[in-house]
Amino acid sequence: MRETGLTVIGLDLAARPWRPTGVAVLTAGKIRTSLVFMDEELIRLVVAHYPRLIAIDAPLSLPAGRCCLRPDCDCRRFGISRRCDRELVRQGFRVFWTALPSMVELTCRGVALAGRLRTAGFEVIEVFPGAAQKRLGLPRKQDNRAELARRLADAWGLVLPAGRRLTHDELDAATAAIVGLLYLQGRAEAIGDPAEGQIILPAPA
Ligand SMILES: [Zn+2]
Repeated sequence: MRETGLTVIGLDLAARPWRPTGVAVLTAGKIRTSLVFMDEELIRLVVAHYPRLIAIDAPLSLPAGRCCLRPDCDCRRFGISRRCDRELVRQGFRVFWTALPSMVELTCRGVALAGRLRTAGFEVIEVFPGAAQKRLGLPRKQDNRAELARRLADAWGLVLPAGRRLTHDELDAATAAIVGLLYLQGRAEAIGDPAEGQIILPAPA
């Protein structure tokens, strides 16, 4: 049965399916997280919750003009970054260019997954949890993961499971889901070129 309440799913996508992808399901004021691996698992989980929106931490588009990310293709002359990437760097965030060799696998997986989900009728946005945490006044997971988890629990309803610590993938997935909720509430800002692909951040305070 489809859930009738407003549900947002946040994903901290791993570059490779054998690395854990963080999943956060935000519904009725609570955020519950888990880890999944294969694309098929991800799709099953999304369909089971039927979210209003899916917010993914991974590049979901290529730099304008590029047809692929192959280093031997002519499209290489269009560069390795998007306007949203460059704008975030200008704002002081540490961003890896979309088509950097170390990012190619993640970008390809993100573009393909977003395409599948959109084809299935879901709304998908790209988010950047590191920047979102800063805008929301949250501690960075690199500085204090336990404090980040506590703040997400107190202010945003993140459910902290007994007996284990949440992983950084789960904390970023929870942050992604929060950005998705803010987006639906009109409390977010889109960075970059709509034709090329944008990154959604919480609106500046
Ligand atoms: Zn190409």
